[in-house]
Amino acid sequence: MEYSTIIEPFRIHTVQAIDLPDAERREAALQRAGYNLFGLNADEVIIDLLTDSGTGAMSSQQWAGMMLGDESYAGSRSFRRFESVVQDLTGFSEVIPTHQGRAAEKILFESMVNEGDVVPNNTHFDTTRANVEYQGAEARDLVIAAGTDPSAIHLFKGNMDIGRLRASVEEVGAGRVPFVMVTVTNNSGGGQPVSMANLRAVREVCDEYDIPFILDACRFAENAWFIHLREDGYADTDAGTIAREMFSLADGCTMSAKKDGLANIGGFIALNDGELAARCRNLLILTEGFSTYGGLAGYDLEAVATGLEEVLDENYLRYRIRSTQYLADKIANADVPIVQPPGGHAVYIDAAAMLPHIPAHEYPAQALAVELYRRGGVRGVEIGTVMFGRPRDDAPDDTAAMELVRLAIPRRTYTQSHIDYVAEVVIDVAGRRADLGGYRIVSQAPWLRHFTARFEPLGE
Ligand SMILES: *Cc1c(COP(=O)(O)O)cnc(C)c1O
Repeated sequence: MEYSTIIEPFRIHTVQAIDLPDAERREAALQRAGYNLFGLNADEVIIDLLTDSGTGAMSSQQWAGMMLGDESYAGSRSFRRFESVVQDLTGFSEVIPTHQGRAAEKILFESMVNEGDVVPNNTHFDTTRANVEYQGAEARDLVIAAGTDPSAIHLFKGNMDIGRLRASVEEVGAGRVPFVMVTVTNNSGGGQPVSMANLRAVREVCDEYDIPFILDACRFAENAWFIHLREDGYADTDAGTIAREMFSLADGCTMSAKKDGLANIGGFIALNDGELAARCRNLLILTEGFSTYGGLAGYDLEAVATGLEEVLDENYLRYRIRSTQYLADKIANADVPIVQPPGGHAVYIDAAAMLPHIPAHEYPAQALAVELYRRGGVRGVEIGTVMFGRPRDDAPDDTAAMELVRLAIPRRTYTQSHIDYVAEVVIDVAGRRADLGGYRIVSQAPWLRHFTARFEPLGE
């Protein structure tokens, strides 16, 4: 194209009003929610960057497809279409629908993981870690060193550290490693991509020790686009071909269709191993539903099938990655410390660097997330010690590797002026950083505590 402005490659067809709660209402909401942004009601939020999961706008093609949904309990046409789209994309023969990604994890891990096992991953997503640990196994994060250094510049900060992977397998023995998982893009590590070369190297280790290789494929299309942009030899390869090559290196995947499925709900397991798939289907029937709907309506299967096709459109991917970069550049140019380079679906603010006066066990990223809401009604999410730390008896928490606030961008939902507003709020809060204080947790659940914990500001 002749001009350099990247425009949203869509027109708005249906709109949803945004409430504009004032400062007083926001303060009351914070107190009611115990300073946990998961406890806010949507109409108390102005710009909701809590997650990019299931929050995107569907296309008119997807909505039209929903009218074609076949709601047959068994063998519905919508399932056959979903199955063939997933088979064509992934190359995996066995396709098992689930209501979302964590259901895929629960079922696959229950079928593959035993107590005392160790599951390596670049970085486990929170539900992935919880589901591994729920089986009595250890979830081990083995991302390269640059992947936990917010300011380190590396084109593929999601890469697995192959040396540490090999050392882990040697240490625990291949028999106790039920599979190696790689998350594309690496959500909890900043939405950072994994290179094809790295996926190939993981495949080689898995072959050497005869261990299956499973992709956590939630953002496969964004990862494919980064490979197209950044990896030698892929500049002339389209995103679909790159995605197929990524899947071809693995033995199976779990997927949340709420991300690169461009749908509001849905997920799947896809595998080549028919015997393993049969065990998964038995569990599926117990908790999700029959194997041709897996907890989804026929119309959901249609929406996901169409979404999986649309997400590989290059105009969409170019806009998606560029618009995330736009927010990152805007706040980084105002000296807000962020994870560099920005990932695909979100901008991650480095709260440890911004708020060095708040120690990790006083939750600097939580303090920053609360302040972004208090000042501007912008809802992000803490990805730090609240999410990944551990409480200890009579001692401060074990802390996380990084203290980040994630501003996740819903797909095809907000316009450039919404994002300009977010940047203004972030820059304003950064200017008041010295006034922010830490928090303490007053109640928490035994796992995934970040969803329900209640907080109190320290020094009050
Ligand atoms: C969202 C996500 C999941 C879990 O999927 P849900 O649909 O939220 O259950 C797993 N892994 C990664 C990397 C994710 O981003």
